Amino acid sequence: MILVYKIIEHIKKSEMKDILKIQSAVLKATHDFMWLKEMTQLMPVMLSSVTDPLAHDVFDSSIIYDGQRLELTKSMILHKQISMSRGDMKGIYIVSPNIRLERPECKDSGRHLIEFSQVDIELKDATGEEFRKFMEELIVYILSFVKKECKEELERIGRKIEIPKTPFKVYDSVKLKEVYGADYEKIVSEKEKEPFWITDLYREFYDKEDPISKKHLNYDLIYPEGFGEGLSGAEREHIYDIIIEKMERRKTDPKMFEPYLKIAKEGHLIPTAGGGFGVERMVRFLTGKKHIREATLFPRVPGEGIEI
Ligand code: AMP
Ligand code: MG
Repeated sequence: MILVYKIIEHIKKSEMKDILKIQSAVLKATHDFMWLKEMTQLMPVMLSSVTDPLAHDVFDSSIIYDGQRLELTKSMILHKQISMSRGDMKGIYIVSPNIRLERPECKDSGRHLIEFSQVDIELKDATGEEFRKFMEELIVYILSFVKKECKEELERIGRKIEIPKTPFKVYDSVKLKEVYGADYEKIVSEKEKEPFWITDLYREFYDKEDPISKKHLNYDLIYPEGFGEGLSGAEREHIYDIIIEKMERRKTDPKMFEPYLKIAKEGHLIPTAGGGFGVERMVRFLTGKKHIREATLFPRVPGEGIEI
């Protein structure tokens, strides 16, 4: 652990106020858009018996309270699915704090924090394509709002915002890997000038697979200019037997998900599609910062220690 911050200097940097105004504009535009689309806002949960298993390895962040093991939220995906079991909400969203104790090696990726917030969204009965269309509209709405309301701030920071054309390009991950190798996301992100989608990624049990083609019905939104991944999402699996079968294939221990699986077995889960975008990563993209720490007021960077 190394402590590299002088946090008070970081907080008092002249451009920090401009960055925070842009962040406020992102959230204001998000809430306005969600209201127009009749989405229901939920409050976050931070403690639960279950959380996202994630598709990559992180350090354990569970705690014991009153004899019960509780996970700190890595993402609210399972709670999103469970809340949609009401069946009468068109869609939901949450500004959701996530704790992910990422490996210290991620320190220089420029886009990893161990604590961040994502705007997590889930739509009833939607296909992946419908969710992507919803998200493209949201991105254009946010970027247009920031461009209009934060003119002076963007000018001082030296960043120009271009409103992307819709629909965004869609690339298949399998094909990209064939052409560019394992580092395809980084390479294509550096080449592209506008946000785009990558589909069909091998991930957690809750992403749906097409029963015939076996393609993963999921997607990542990738920012251009090398800023990389900004959102992950999918059509969700809601059928108990398939969830169990996918857990087996992924060597995911069903014991860790018992309360969720009980709800799934009783048939409460319904077809949904959704995704979540990281607030700090979006602000980093909009302000054009090399490292996410520069776009975050209290940056929790893997392997850097936390001053306060
Ligand atoms: P995931 O579903 O795991 O891809 O997380 C959803 C979104 O949250 C990602 O697309 C990022 O925008 C953001 N995110 C994920 N992990 C981190 C992290 N360690 N630091 C900052 N943002 C993150
Ligand atoms: Mg992701």
